Amino acid sequence: MNQETQAIRIQAERSQYKEHSVPLYMTSSYAFDDADEMSALFAEEKEGNIYSRYSNPNIKELLDKMCALEKAEAGWATASGMAAVFTTFGSLLSAGDHIVSCRSVFGSTHRLLTEILPKWNITSTYIDFDQYELFESAIQDNTKMLYIETPSNPGLDIIDIERLSVICKKKNILLVVDNCFSTPIIQQPILFGADIVIHSATKYIDGQGRTLGGIILGTKTLIDKVEAFARHTGPALSPFNAWILSKSLETLPLRMERHSSNALVIAQKLEGNKQVKWVKYPHLESHPQYEIAKKQMKWGGGIVSFEINGGLDAGRAFLDNLQLFSLTANLGDTRSIATHPASTTHSKLTPEQRAEVGISDGLIRLSIGLETLEDIWVDVEQALEG
Ligand SMILES: *Cc1c(COP(=O)(O)O)cnc(C)c1O
Repeated sequence: MNQETQAIRIQAERSQYKEHSVPLYMTSSYAFDDADEMSALFAEEKEGNIYSRYSNPNIKELLDKMCALEKAEAGWATASGMAAVFTTFGSLLSAGDHIVSCRSVFGSTHRLLTEILPKWNITSTYIDFDQYELFESAIQDNTKMLYIETPSNPGLDIIDIERLSVICKKKNILLVVDNCFSTPIIQQPILFGADIVIHSATKYIDGQGRTLGGIILGTKTLIDKVEAFARHTGPALSPFNAWILSKSLETLPLRMERHSSNALVIAQKLEGNKQVKWVKYPHLESHPQYEIAKKQMKWGGGIVSFEINGGLDAGRAFLDNLQLFSLTANLGDTRSIATHPASTTHSKLTPEQRAEVGISDGLIRLSIGLETLEDIWVDVEQALEG
């Protein structure tokens, strides 16, 4: 089956009621026929559900789809994207281990790497996204994992996954890719040599701003370790949220195509606007890593970033002038969203620290939604003029 069909037709077994659309299995535990079945399930001699912290039909359906879409052997679902990131670190690393990470990571991932993991003596080194030699030379004897986000948030820098995977294989360390911005419809990191793929399902996978969720995908051997950790630490996804996310996957291929085609046009139009200093979008030829983006991303995705002339004040004024766009901390929604990192998510950093992670004062991040393209552009244009 191809991706569109997989996203729709992989589904949980029908119950005795022969429902066409998969129902919600809102149950914390499962009943056993007799003592024999119960002991066989606990001894893992028989497959089946015991308790929803371990497994649930709605979660299994979501994971079956995600494994097919990402070409992964196995997966695990968590209550949020950050639970997926933490569970990955917690299950695959031990005290004394070291991580090499790209510098511009999601804000909470940064806190995890710099403030929380050191409590267990797990340390990390940041490397700028395009310093491939440094990624290699930063690997120490105790390095177990190389961690990246591509495209990065909000800078939209692109890292060559295949190039890093060659280094990781040579050094025998794991390559972990946060694939939140692209989803498997646009980019399948495992095909380029990644060992683990992480998603915040909160973003495009839900796609309608309703629920949090996280997913970890990889080989059976690695996901067995994730499972051994997650079963007993409890980051489980709710069956209700899994049901929503699995329904959402049915339209993910269509949505990603439209998010991308809308975003490309907005990026092109911004490039010709005199209020705009520069525009960054993975599939614009002017993007510094355009060739890599073309190689590993089928489309450019739904996020466009640009620098408005006039810095901090102009950035805030742009947000205030927007009428259709939402000002909210989410992305990947059907509704178009604008953020101004310098005055919000990154306002606690000094201008120098912001520059280090690629955030200038006039940087605007747009998450282009699924409204009529003309309506989206009319709003952006009038906000720029204002
Ligand atoms: C949002 C996000 C996360 C965290 O996901 P939550 O679902 O909010 O916990 C991790 N990585 C990236 C790239 C994100 O955008």
